[in-house]
Amino acid sequence: MAEAVLYVIATPIGNLGDLSPRAQQILSDVDLIAAEDTRHTGRLLSHFSIKSTLISVHDHNESARAQLIIDALTQGKRIALVSDAGTPLISDPGYGLVKRVRDAGFRVSPVPGCCAFVAALSAAGLPSDRFMFIGFLPAKKQARIKQLTALVDDSCTLIFYESTHRILACLDDMESVFGVDREIVIAREITKTFETFKSGSVADIKEWMLADHHQQKGEFVVLVRGAVCSEKEQSVDSQSAKLLMLLASELPPKKAASIVAEVTGIHKKQLYEYLLQVDS
Ligand code: SAM
Repeated sequence: MAEAVLYVIATPIGNLGDLSPRAQQILSDVDLIAAEDTRHTGRLLSHFSIKSTLISVHDHNESARAQLIIDALTQGKRIALVSDAGTPLISDPGYGLVKRVRDAGFRVSPVPGCCAFVAALSAAGLPSDRFMFIGFLPAKKQARIKQLTALVDDSCTLIFYESTHRILACLDDMESVFGVDREIVIAREITKTFETFKSGSVADIKEWMLADHHQQKGEFVVLVRGAVCSEKEQSVDSQSAKLLMLLASELPPKKAASIVAEVTGIHKKQLYEYLLQVDS
């Protein structure tokens, strides 16, 4: 009997050519495909002449379906989980199912592929070493402003999902919270005919979008450059300076700066430069 497994399979976010040969093979081979929307996935499967059986698994039936899927796994079945587009669980259903299947002791195996925010980040030209994926902001303005305000000082690249209906409202709120000058990148319709990457200040992007209503249509990833620390925040406080000097008396300057950076969160380069200044 084949080993029971739940495959979590990424599907295209626009261009069907992005469904990997391995994903196609597994989707053909499994006993059952659990899909967010069976009609939507049905169209994808028929494009690839895949005839596997489909059942729906979405936010409203995930718990009941999890039991059915666990029963099928108990019988040694191989099952695939897909969402409408991209990677399941990423702003999509599936977390509850994956957790229950794992807790029940079955193997869960990813079949990686498209994910809109990873695709956007890979081409946006914003720092990709540290980023925070937020997904969709709340629908209500007040809650949106609250969430954005909590992120205003974060220095990593911030990544949001947005839809046609709220893209302008989202930019308005980003302008009022992050300020007109904060750099953002709009990644629209990635892998589709009208794929567009546009970067600029929040104010510029808003103006550009208002001037051309086509740019307000489709699916969006919004990336925001992280906050640049103010001079005050960047200064080396006396406690950190003391620790730095202590370590620098025993260790090479770079090593001392790196340890203090780890402990205090102050940038390593800044600590190193502080040591050089003190030395000169
Ligand atoms: N699971 C998906 C993933 O891995 O990216 C995300 C699903 S979420 C329900 C849909 C949102 O993802 C859209 O509203 C949009 O913000 C973003 N998205 C999906 N496809 C996109 C594309 N081709 N271009 C830009 N954004 C996209």
